[in-house]
Amino acid sequence: MGLFARQIVAELDAIKGQALYRQLRTIESAHGPRVDFNGRSMLMLASNNYLGLASHPALKRAAANATEQYGTGAAASRLIAGNLRVLSDLEARLAQFKGVEAALVFGSGYLANIGTISAIAGREDVILSDELNHASLIDGCRLARAQIMVYRHCDIDHLQALLRQSRAARRRIIVTDSVFSMDGDLAPLVEIVELARRHNAAVMIDEAHAVGVLGHKGAGLASALGLEREVDIQMGTLSKSLGSYGAYVAGSRALVDLLINRARSFVFTTGLPPASAAAAIAAIDLIEAEPQRIKILWDNACYLRQELARAGFRLGASATPILPVIVGDAQPALDFAEGLLRRDVYVLAIRPPTVPLGTARLRVTATADHTRADLDEALRAFIAAGREAGAIAK
Ligand SMILES: *Cc1c(COP(=O)(O)O)cnc(C)c1O
Repeated sequence: MGLFARQIVAELDAIKGQALYRQLRTIESAHGPRVDFNGRSMLMLASNNYLGLASHPALKRAAANATEQYGTGAAASRLIAGNLRVLSDLEARLAQFKGVEAALVFGSGYLANIGTISAIAGREDVILSDELNHASLIDGCRLARAQIMVYRHCDIDHLQALLRQSRAARRRIIVTDSVFSMDGDLAPLVEIVELARRHNAAVMIDEAHAVGVLGHKGAGLASALGLEREVDIQMGTLSKSLGSYGAYVAGSRALVDLLINRARSFVFTTGLPPASAAAAIAAIDLIEAEPQRIKILWDNACYLRQELARAGFRLGASATPILPVIVGDAQPALDFAEGLLRRDVYVLAIRPPTVPLGTARLRVTATADHTRADLDEALRAFIAAGREAGAIAK
């Protein structure tokens, strides 16, 4: 073996030695309450398909129609020749849905976050970032070359202290998940907005797990709190509750115009495929027309949370349908997940660096299209596999 090949193998061995090795698993069916995996039908409790829209007939029809009308690809960056009508239609729909002036669609949430943060912040600026923010926000902060001040998770006093320390900056931007993706808790947005106003700072939130989940029309945390106009930048994805692919940034017209000019992950990349855009429009229409899906999602999540707690599992402080079942070390978390797979329940162990060291967990999500019988079946498997892996008493 050459030097490079040996180094790679050694690196992989080190990852395996820490029980942090990751592997792709192949699913052979569409996403739904059950999926086909390893030749078996499994209950799916690991997806972000909260409302069950990823294989909804209305979305599939919209995607198929858009493909017929516009073809399969946007064919260029949107600034060159790729700004298909369906993308502008989606942006108008998103702006209305989020209660703001304008929205801009990106190829994914990762691209939206790295492009936006690096477009609005530079060397003279300070970004104040929650310590549990999503990796794409962290990477955006790094790319911006701004000074990054990390505040303790949801700690308003710490945030305030950092705001006091950073008065000399040209611009200060507070960046936070609105729903934290691995814990399911909420950012203290009312207090953050209040602090930002007092210190003349801007606020950017990532609503990836809030859209389709929070607010009576599913428009996210800012909307649920009536803070659409106070939050400067609302980012969200089309790929979770909305069952499609892509992401958006919503805010003022000026913000969107600046991003069109400055966000490199918008300028130097091809426009979203028409099928994805049309499916996202159909998803927003559906959520607004049938908000009861959101209620079913919450009923299912609350039932699962209550029964997991009753069985003795250690649950994190979630306030949303994301249920973190905390295990601690990586290896027992893996064993627990394996035990569930053997019982035809698809749940994934989340390990560092996705979560802090010593907080490996199973991240469990029920969706709106699970039945009570599905959840009871999952609970039986959790109890059996949890005992086996030592996550609850035998
Ligand atoms: C999933 C996620 C993203 C990334 O979105 P993609 O469209 O999957 O790239 C960004 N932020 C948060 C909080 C997420 O959970």
